[in-house]
Amino acid sequence: MTKIGLEIHCQLTKLESKLFCSCKANYREFEPNHNICPVCMGLPGSLPRLNQKAVKSATSIAMALNCQTPEKIAFFRKNYFYPDLPKNFQITQLNVYGDMSVGGEGYVEVEGKKIKIRRIQLEEDPGRLIYEGASDRTKITLVDYNRAGTPLVEIVTDPDFENPRQVRVFLNILSDLLENLGVAEPGLEGAMRADGNVSIEGGNKVEIKNIGSFHDLEKALHFELTRQQSLSERDIEIAMETRHWDDRRKITISSRSKEEDQDYRYFLENDIPWVKIEQDTRDALKENMPESISSKKERYVKKFDIAPQVAEIIASDRYYSKLFEGAYSEHNAKDIANLITTDVIGFIDTKEKQQTSKITPKHLSDLIDAINAKTITRNSAKVALQEIMKSGKDTKTILKEMDLGQVSDSSEINAIISQIFEDEKQAVIDAKERPETVNFLVGKVMQKTKGKADPTKTLELIKSKLNQ
Ligand SMILES: [Zn+2]
Repeated sequence: MTKIGLEIHCQLTKLESKLFCSCKANYREFEPNHNICPVCMGLPGSLPRLNQKAVKSATSIAMALNCQTPEKIAFFRKNYFYPDLPKNFQITQLNVYGDMSVGGEGYVEVEGKKIKIRRIQLEEDPGRLIYEGASDRTKITLVDYNRAGTPLVEIVTDPDFENPRQVRVFLNILSDLLENLGVAEPGLEGAMRADGNVSIEGGNKVEIKNIGSFHDLEKALHFELTRQQSLSERDIEIAMETRHWDDRRKITISSRSKEEDQDYRYFLENDIPWVKIEQDTRDALKENMPESISSKKERYVKKFDIAPQVAEIIASDRYYSKLFEGAYSEHNAKDIANLITTDVIGFIDTKEKQQTSKITPKHLSDLIDAINAKTITRNSAKVALQEIMKSGKDTKTILKEMDLGQVSDSSEINAIISQIFEDEKQAVIDAKERPETVNFLVGKVMQKTKGKADPTKTLELIKSKLNQ
């Protein structure tokens, strides 16, 4: 039987500062080695100070993943040498002598199957190595410590996945969940990374590291399964090892025999006292947790009769659900939902565009009102949305500027009606005899005004002219 487990690292990008110092958590905007201080560089005599908000964020992740959360947590030193780790140890957590990381024994439901979460721990990200040229042939490696000390949450699953596809579904669910919690931005480069471990019946466990994206993880898992099956068929032992994913050649390569926990010489980080997370704090965190994606979806379907697929799209994306929540009212929820999933999604399809878009919930409700009043067509709404996205001007102004708004001036409509009564004499006679054929004349007015005439007013005016 195939067994796949994951170790996911997720940066808490919504925090202001690093895990143990006041350097910025958002290292991405700095020149290399310009977001560092004696603490995150591990200089002698410097002392770490724990970012309490990071503990809260990590605890709420643990809660959202149905984990047990302990009353107090401790930090450990994981000792190893690597150029991206200036202290020669990483401050992390470990579950020994009972529960001491921020969470454990949770689960996530994936297509009806419970994937167990073994533990969640809070730790610091190391710096980054930058290779000049291909990593296996480079003569020069640069180090950028800006990232060192960034708050990171490690999520470890049991080997409960049966195939790479299940892994992909799980990671999608997890990244939506983390984003919904408002603690992370999984879409940011390097903000969410995953390593996998794979074993097949009778074989040893192999870890795969260095995977750049979820898409690559799936490819790497497929490659590794095929490699192990081929070894097993030839009766060759599958060695317990760590393999690196070579993105260029799309294969895994053996990198080192796997270290055991004891190789890291874990010991308690005595510079950080045990942290107590009072029951009150945990209750408050639970209470203030944003509504989960699944309960949001259920609410949209039940309360507004929105199609489950539409509800799913909106509920699982923070940006769309914020637009929806701000825009809907009792009478237009379904229309707002459809406008988001057919038109808005069409051109705001990346996180970057979501960030720069100037569309507000009010724009959407105004547009729906205009559509429902039949003063603009769906197509005009789409054209208007694209302009709103860029300029953010209010809906009325946009409709006017782009000449998309309705024609509601009675004298203007009457002038057109007179013209049509001249051109369509037979239709006028028909309408006088059979009132139900009046729609033909309304249609003609619409045609002439390119759909911009107020339909209610047009009908009214035609009827009164017919009775004259
Ligand atoms: Zn620092």
